[in-house]
Amino acid sequence: MRMRKKKHRDARFQARADLCFEPAEFADKFKPPVFLEIGCGKGGFICELAQGHPNANFVAVEKNLDVMVLAMEKAAELGLTNVRFLSADAKNLAEHFAPAIVGGIYLNFSDPWHKRYQASKRLTYKTFLEIYKSILIPEAKLVMKTDNQNLFSFSVKSLAENGFEILSQTRDLYGEGISDGNVQTEYEKKFVAEGVAICRLEAVMK
Ligand code: SAH
Repeated sequence: MRMRKKKHRDARFQARADLCFEPAEFADKFKPPVFLEIGCGKGGFICELAQGHPNANFVAVEKNLDVMVLAMEKAAELGLTNVRFLSADAKNLAEHFAPAIVGGIYLNFSDPWHKRYQASKRLTYKTFLEIYKSILIPEAKLVMKTDNQNLFSFSVKSLAENGFEILSQTRDLYGEGISDGNVQTEYEKKFVAEGVAICRLEAVMK
């Protein structure tokens, strides 16, 4: 059963291979700066953002190929030409992006890794922040959303301690009525429907 699924997934991935991110392509039509979503899941957020900003270029990074294929198919259905996909773990981002090439990073509903000994896996742990700093343009923003209040607290502290300035933060994006223009992710739609408060922050390198 597992083999069948993988074979099917690989064929679907190959069918959309033109949407894979290739750094060499930068010389051509897909120019930096690029905006990254790390952990794009099914791709609803990055596709809607790309649709709304046809002159900007986006890269969706996702370590789970099964789910990334769904995001690629969504982008293809929409005929988007300004989104590419990178099947990679965030810990290897510096292998794919040159310094100061990224115009912004979105972290949406990242895995909370709630146990203390799992802290180093959180996408706002200091080792990840060092990687982001190495590829971000100085004035670029890191924007994070989560339903997880503990991950949010951890992230605010980790960012402040590791070279970022928090420009804005809320622990209830919808309750405060400041969600205008907000692009929802798949997870976000589910949480909002359940009445769960959404945390959001924007940070920039100091
Ligand atoms: N952003 C989407 C999905 C959130 S679930 C949404 O809001 O709907 C978190 C996603 O991040 C999962 O798809 C998971 O595979 C991916 N992810 C977790 N850790 C990652 C890492 N280190 N590198 C790349 N992707 C990661």
